[in-house]
Formats: sequence, structure tokens, C-alpha cells
Amino acid sequence: MPIATVNPANGETLKTYQAMGEEEIERRLQLAEATFRTYRTTSFEERARLVHRAAALLDEDRQSIARVMTTEMGKPVKQARAEAAKCAKAMRWYADHAAELLADEEPDASDVKDSGASRVLVRYRPLGPVLAVMPWNFPLWQVVRFAAPTLMAGNVGLLKHASNVPQTALYLEDLFHRAGFTEGCFQTLLVGSAAVDEILRDERVKAATLTGSEPAGRAVASTAGEMIKKTVLELGGSDPFVVMPSADLDRAAEVAVTARVQNTGQSCIAAKRFIVHADVHDAFAERFTAGMRALRTGDPMDEETDVGPLSSEQGRADLEELVDDAVRAGAGVLCGGERPDGPGWYYPPTVLTGITREMRVHREEAFGPVATLYRAADLDEAVLIANDSLFGLSSNVWTRDEAEVDRFVRDLEAGSVFVNGMTASHPAFPFGGVKRSGYGRELSGHGIREFCNITTVWHG
Ligand code: NDP
Repeated sequence: MPIATVNPANGETLKTYQAMGEEEIERRLQLAEATFRTYRTTSFEERARLVHRAAALLDEDRQSIARVMTTEMGKPVKQARAEAAKCAKAMRWYADHAAELLADEEPDASDVKDSGASRVLVRYRPLGPVLAVMPWNFPLWQVVRFAAPTLMAGNVGLLKHASNVPQTALYLEDLFHRAGFTEGCFQTLLVGSAAVDEILRDERVKAATLTGSEPAGRAVASTAGEMIKKTVLELGGSDPFVVMPSADLDRAAEVAVTARVQNTGQSCIAAKRFIVHADVHDAFAERFTAGMRALRTGDPMDEETDVGPLSSEQGRADLEELVDDAVRAGAGVLCGGERPDGPGWYYPPTVLTGITREMRVHREEAFGPVATLYRAADLDEAVLIANDSLFGLSSNVWTRDEAEVDRFVRDLEAGSVFVNGMTASHPAFPFGGVKRSGYGRELSGHGIREFCNITTVWHG
């Protein structure tokens, strides 16, 4: 894939970039290593000052960077602005909390005595340069979610961003430099995915984090495994959204629409499979479909737009294939399901019913505004359908019955359970999945500790 900005709203190529060659990559790896030697000794106060400065600059740039993101990957511009604001908030959160999250820990006094020590402490030391392989869907957020804790922990970052968001990738490097970080603290490597393997094998790169598809995750994890390097993987999701009879149906249907179509449906934590108890299935389906139909699809630069184009022609073709496969196998189409004529990679909000296990859309991630509806006879069947997926990122349950909540929290195979609300990430809460959705956690104290050398210091 060429490194280029191609506007998904009309297919126009606006800017292309030459991938960095071996020499430039070598220069940047050397710089990362050299910078780490001194950056690792900086205080939390100094790092926090710079991260706060980056947050302030990002706030100032919000309008302009939002338009860049919309131009590169097609998200509605109001959502792009919200993404930039969320990034500044996460930066501030880590700037304010990292010292406390990474403070030395003292084991229980009886255990210290039992070990024969006079004193023991556990210190979170940085690891070194960390490689981040990131996707285009939240081109700022996915990176900041990595960069803020990485820089606060005393590591330095190397970003290999998706090839279709080069301007956002370069903006991020520039942002951290303008904030006062020295050049080697955060660098963008403008390279295609084929270059990742060699970079990851380099001894100067100590660990890697990847957000993206399963094949990309598998490739990076295999190489990292061979090289004995730590990885965090945040891969796809096909999150269930379960609605039980006691739920507030109007609210559930309204939130279901947003949960499915946020970011034009291209979100790993978007709700994708709607599993509804038989007693309320038809009433929910009617409200949900009406909400999906009422969405405004169109120019992502328009402030009124809810659903923009998909990020790439391939992305739309993949989604269309999933829908066509389901329809051929007997799925019903409650709305959408037909690609519109005209320029741009648009696909309408679509609701499918009558889903069977044989359909690809049941097993694969629908990365676009396509919802699948399931009817469940009771809670047991709802849990069975929800867990009948290779993915396990997040889950949503709607019920006012506390006993049902307990059952869902006990039984759903996912990294989070959102009760009477839609999945959203927050800097203070751990984020990540199980099964093929990946491993490790981002955000919160768990996220910042993933790339630390957890060091036991024992005094005789
Ligand atoms: P990819 O997984 O291909 O891209 C994500 C990142 O990984 C990009 O930086 C990409 O680089 C890089 N990459 C791709 N293949 C490799 C590899 N073999 N080794 C190292 N790095 C690699 O996602 P796509 O954009 O192709 O989207 C395909 C599907 O992936 C989507 O339909 C969706 O199902 C899922 N996805 C999930 C995301 C999530 O948030 N969990 C985000 C994006 C996609 P380059 O751009 O240069 O190819």
C-alpha cells in the first residue's frame, strides 16, 4: 500500500510520500537509543510538564488536525474534534497520575522479614524504545493512548502508523517536538508494513504494541516472540449488545445506534452483534432500525453528518462481501444493504436479521455500519450467542435485574462489560481483550506498567 493521503469522500489522492529508506531508519533507531539513555533519568515532573504542554498545543490545533483526520480517513469532522479533545484529556491524566501509578512499592513487612532483607522495594523502570504499529481508525487516539503512558514511564516511542494517515502521523511527531521533547523521544517512521519485521528484530527496539487486524497482530507477535520481546495486542472485536426484557428499550435502541455507527462503524469496540430477548426482540428491532434509517450519511466535513464514507475502497468491498454472503445464505435486510452510486466509499447503515453460524458476518468483524440482530430465548442462550465468537474485546448488557447483571459479568468472555451503556474507553480504566481480540491492557495503571521493567530491589 503506498503511503498517501487519499480522500475517502471522493477517492482523490491528495499527497503521496516516499517511504523512509534503510539509512533514515537506522538514523532514527540510533537517535531513539541515544535519547533513551538520558530521557530515562528525567523526573516525572519534567515529563509531566512536557506532556501537559503537548495537550495544550493539541487543544489549540483541534480544528485543523480534525480536518486532516477527516480528509485522510473519512470520519465525520465533529467526531474528529471529539477525538482530539479526548487525546488531550488522556495526556493530562497520565501527566497527573504517572508518578503515583509508578511509585515504588513496598511488599508486606512480614514477607520482607521472611526473605531475610532489611528492606525490599519494587521499582517500575523504563524499558527503552517501544515500537507502536497503529491503525487509521482513530488516528490520533490510538497513538496517544500509547504515547502518553510511554513517555511518562520514561520510554521513548517509535510510531509506524497506517499507510493511509501519513499527515496525522507526521503531525504527532511534530506535536511532541513542539511541546519540548527532544527529537528522539517520539519519532514517526514513515514505512510500509513490510519494513516492520526488520525494525522489530533490531536489538535497540525493546517491545512493541499493535492495534489492528488479526493477521497484523499475528505477524508482529510472531517476530516479537522469536526475539523474546514483550508485546501488547489490541485486535478486532465483534462485541455483543444484549438486551433483556427489563431494559429501558427506548434508551437501549438509541444507544445501540450510536454504539454501532460511531466512527462510521469502524471501531474495534463498536457493538456489532445485537442479541435481544425474544419478549422484546421485535419492539427493539423496530426502534433500532428506525434509528439506523434516520442517520444522516454524507460528506464527513459537514457538521450534520452522522455517518461518513468508509476509510478505503477495500474496506467497503470487504464489508459489502460480508453483507452479500449473509443475504445469499438467507439473512433478512431491515434497512440498507445496497452500496450507493457516486463517488466516495459510502455504505449505508444496515441491519441484518436471521443470522446463522455459517454466515461470515457471524464470525468475522464487520468494520462498517452493519448490525446483525439475533433473537435469544433466555439469558442462557444470550450468553451462548455472545460468547460464540473468536473475539472477546468488550460487551454491553441492558437489564435492570441485578441477578442478570451478575450472570453476565460472570460469564461473558470479554475484557469489559458495560451495563446499560455503550463501551467507551477512559484513561483511568484498563482497556483490552481476551481470545483473538489480543492480550495485555492499555490505559490506567495496567497500561503504563506493560512496558516497564518491574525491578525487585533487595537490601541485606
Ligand atoms: P491492518 O491490521 O492491516 O493495519 C493496522 C496497522 O498494522 C497498520 O499500521 C498496518 O500498516 C500494519 N500492518 C499490517 N500488516 C502488517 C504486518 N504483516 N506486519 C506489521 N504491520 C502490519 O488493518 P487494515 O487497515 O488492513 O484493516 C483490516 C481489518 O482489520 C479491518 O477491517 C478490521 O477488521 C481490522 N482493524 C481493527 C482495528 C482495531 O481498532 N482493532 C483497526 C484497524 C483495522 P499499513 O497501513 O502500512 O499496511
